[in-house]
Amino acid sequence: MAKINISFFIPHVGCPHKCSFCNQNSITGQSKIPHAEDIKSTLNKAMNEIDKSDRENTEISFFGGSFTAIKREYMIELLSSAQPFIGKGKFSGIRISTRPDYIDKDILTLLRDNHVTTIELGCQSMNNEVLTANERGHTRQDVINASELIKEFGFRLGLQMMVGLYKSTPEIDMYTAEEIVKLSPNEARIYPVVIMENTRLGDLFKSGEYVPFSFECAVKLSSKILSLFEKNGIAVIKLGLHASEVVEKDCIGGFYHPAFRELCESELYKNEIIQMLQSCSKNVRKAVISVSPKFVSKVIGQKRSNIEYFKSIGIDIKVVQSDRQKEKIRLIKTE
Ligand code: SF4
Repeated sequence: MAKINISFFIPHVGCPHKCSFCNQNSITGQSKIPHAEDIKSTLNKAMNEIDKSDRENTEISFFGGSFTAIKREYMIELLSSAQPFIGKGKFSGIRISTRPDYIDKDILTLLRDNHVTTIELGCQSMNNEVLTANERGHTRQDVINASELIKEFGFRLGLQMMVGLYKSTPEIDMYTAEEIVKLSPNEARIYPVVIMENTRLGDLFKSGEYVPFSFECAVKLSSKILSLFEKNGIAVIKLGLHASEVVEKDCIGGFYHPAFRELCESELYKNEIIQMLQSCSKNVRKAVISVSPKFVSKVIGQKRSNIEYFKSIGIDIKVVQSDRQKEKIRLIKTE
């Protein structure tokens, strides 16, 4: 069953950093800082709107800033306001996102005592040069230390990485993904870089100092990372930024697409079909692929991109819907 989040955005509060890509106010689309009364009224409403059976699958989420870096008083205000809404018949716990260099035993004890269940760390890259070039202010070792401590305390761990940062390469991004696998998080988010107005990355991009790799390369690379994580049992809960008017308005470059994940999934299906065709003993010119109804559009690709790709290499692909519920994709006929 898919998890439900009741999300509160805490834009830039308490964050002393200015990461090259970050314009929190644009990303969250708001600059209002929520307080206890806002939290309580939203959660009261959510209690009425979310069925009892779904509540145990619902987390109260504090996103947007670096939760463990905000003033202790404010953090406790937010955590305390959520407590009456957690427990039997209510929501399952709290999810926060933060930086790896703001994790220690004291803070984890405080979070555990306040029913925090999941901690997401923005690791972004596991290469120190990339981290420095993008002014992250933490190192690869900080990510390792924080991840290990979070798991020791029994929290669910989520790691976030970016694809295509300033000074990164496809090889470095793949290395980051492999390092993340070694830390065995429960889940991950993959964010291909979106260059926003009013950020340092934006300035570097406009001056020509930062030249991101191609969109096609970002899709191929992100799909490889998606596949790597899924093969290792890491749930990819997000791939690409949320589509929003604010992001669309302030985005000046990089890899924004409202359905980025679907592009990557189509790429993976394309690779799967290539492998199926290569395993045929004859030189295939026509093929019929049977696909579960819910994957048909991904197999075909946006604007029929996969069908067109195979046509361009001389192979005519026909996709038919499978009537076998559990079947994802199968080659049923070739000529
Ligand atoms: S640490 Fe997070 S909130 Fe702070 S500047 Fe970096 S990305 Fe933005």
